[in-house]
Amino acid sequence: MKYHNLHTHTSYSDGAFSPEQLVKIAKAKNLEVIGICDHAFSRKLSNEYQITSCLEEYLEDLRGIQQSLEDIDLKIGIEIDASKIYGVNPSDLPFDILNKFDYVLFEYVNTENEYWGPVGKRDIDEIIKIRNQLTIPVGLAHNDLQKNYKRKEKKLAKLLSDNDIFIELNQSEFHPRRGVGRNTRDGLDYYKHFSKKLLKELVNKQVKVVAGTDAHTAETLGDLNNVYQFIDENNLLCHELIS
Ligand SMILES: [Zn+2]
Repeated sequence: MKYHNLHTHTSYSDGAFSPEQLVKIAKAKNLEVIGICDHAFSRKLSNEYQITSCLEEYLEDLRGIQQSLEDIDLKIGIEIDASKIYGVNPSDLPFDILNKFDYVLFEYVNTENEYWGPVGKRDIDEIIKIRNQLTIPVGLAHNDLQKNYKRKEKKLAKLLSDNDIFIELNQSEFHPRRGVGRNTRDGLDYYKHFSKKLLKELVNKQVKVVAGTDAHTAETLGDLNNVYQFIDENNLLCHELIS
């Protein structure tokens, strides 16, 4: 597994740094792979804080940076809101342009409530239905799988495996406005709630994982040791993007 962070945001959405600055900081923190996945297709954020209306420009800018890099590998991602309240119906997505990205993360899949409020549950079947229209790696961002798939661990692992959907294990960045870690429940990162049964099913079905921090600033950009250790200890399979 390479030293990586596949969940970061830049000033193209609600992150603090430009892509150039973020990559530079990532390099200084010795990351080998950095994935930038700015927000898109969400009513949670105003238009200037997401890339929905400038996908081509974002891609072109990041490809330029990607080609100029030597000591670090940049992956160009996009984080799509799949919630019922704020997000997009997956069938309405522009697949042609999405397939030019290096990967896509769907957030809030099968999620009724997030740690900050209701988001409206969109069934994972709606992602499965359009999965074959996406030719790039597809993942679930920081999902509270233990809560969202309670007593359906086996079915979930099979679904993810059969449809080649990876999961992002998120070591949370602190959310200054909310006063808690992003993507946590009862003070613990979502992945730390995974039961032995869920982990066993994920390993059995060879569901792939990546690590991220949902970094909006520089603080947690290279701070992933806990999640790397979790991946190692539980013999989880890393995605090709970072192996
Ligand atoms: Zn994010």
